[in-house]
Amino acid sequence: MSNAPFNFSAGPAMLPKAVMRQAQEELLNWNNTGVSVMEFSHRDPAYVKMARQAEQDLRDLLAVPDDYEVLFLQGGGRGQFSAVPQNIAAKTATVDYLDTGIWSGYAIREAQKYVREVNVAAGTVETGNGKAIAPRSDWQLSDNAAYFHYCPNETVDGIALHEIPADIQAPIVADMSSNILSEPLDVSRFGVIYAGAQKNIGPSGFAIAIVRKDLLGHPQPELSSIMDYQLQAKDGSMYNTPNTFAWYLAGLVFQWIKEQGGLAAMGEQNHRKAKTLYDYIDQSDFYRNSVHPANRSIMNVPFQLADERLDERFLLQAKDAGLMGLKGHRFVGGMRASIYNAMPLEGVNALIDFMDEFQRNA
Ligand code: PMP
Repeated sequence: MSNAPFNFSAGPAMLPKAVMRQAQEELLNWNNTGVSVMEFSHRDPAYVKMARQAEQDLRDLLAVPDDYEVLFLQGGGRGQFSAVPQNIAAKTATVDYLDTGIWSGYAIREAQKYVREVNVAAGTVETGNGKAIAPRSDWQLSDNAAYFHYCPNETVDGIALHEIPADIQAPIVADMSSNILSEPLDVSRFGVIYAGAQKNIGPSGFAIAIVRKDLLGHPQPELSSIMDYQLQAKDGSMYNTPNTFAWYLAGLVFQWIKEQGGLAAMGEQNHRKAKTLYDYIDQSDFYRNSVHPANRSIMNVPFQLADERLDERFLLQAKDAGLMGLKGHRFVGGMRASIYNAMPLEGVNALIDFMDEFQRNA
């Protein structure tokens, strides 16, 4: 297909074209071996070398300090919703969660199965200028929480907490499924960072966890071995057979990000893309975004049409114009443009041109 569409899907999402091309070129002949990377034993030295390089590249990109394990796991983002409490909290523990959107809610309900109390420390508030995350001074934290969990980028709601919360005594755990690798990050502020892969990393079903070593060693007894951070760390994330293809593809994505200039360059580009789109939406009275400017996501931009009866026509015509994946999440409706690392600025500009034309013809 010569005119590939711009894909605004929230996930599985667009991956860098250069990565997809390389994967295609070497699909049947990886590393000059005559076979596919999918057909390799994960114990083969060539595969292990590639896998360790991918880990190193991820460590380099995020400047992960030495006292953290970097784990490549399965079960996507949701798998970590149960892995986190079972790995780093006792059954008798209290844990603190922010409830800032749909994914926080799922994480909370999963954690409730494993610990005595999940304290919801804060949520969102409606302000005169859109939906915002409650100010830090209003959070009701527990005295002895085993950890503090939040989702810095709520994929469905398009709500983001751009600063890492300050003055939190408990280890901070973050679900970065939809913002990992989108800009520079101070990993040393976190106890655990985890992410499902299908936005900024690679194929779905895969996940990464970055875990401070001192949190390990006291898992709940029923924790399944494949979810056991310490066991996986000891076995180099190969306790069970890993998703070898996803690991390989993630490695290509990490190299691609390095070639783009790393997370500083990614962050600059992502902020430019997001600002371009929000500026356009804000000057319009035909489109609107209902998130407070301070909490707007740079990865997921939900927007509504002034007249929702036009939604269907908008989506159909967008598709014809080569813009796919713009339908909002089924829970919230409207539109959503997901603009992860792989989305070029031209994609955002093409979307704005289309929005402008649609408004003129409406
Ligand atoms: N957390 C966040 C922030 C997400 O966006 C998603 C998926 N969209 C998940 C968790 C769940 O990921 P998975 O479907 O891989 O379990």
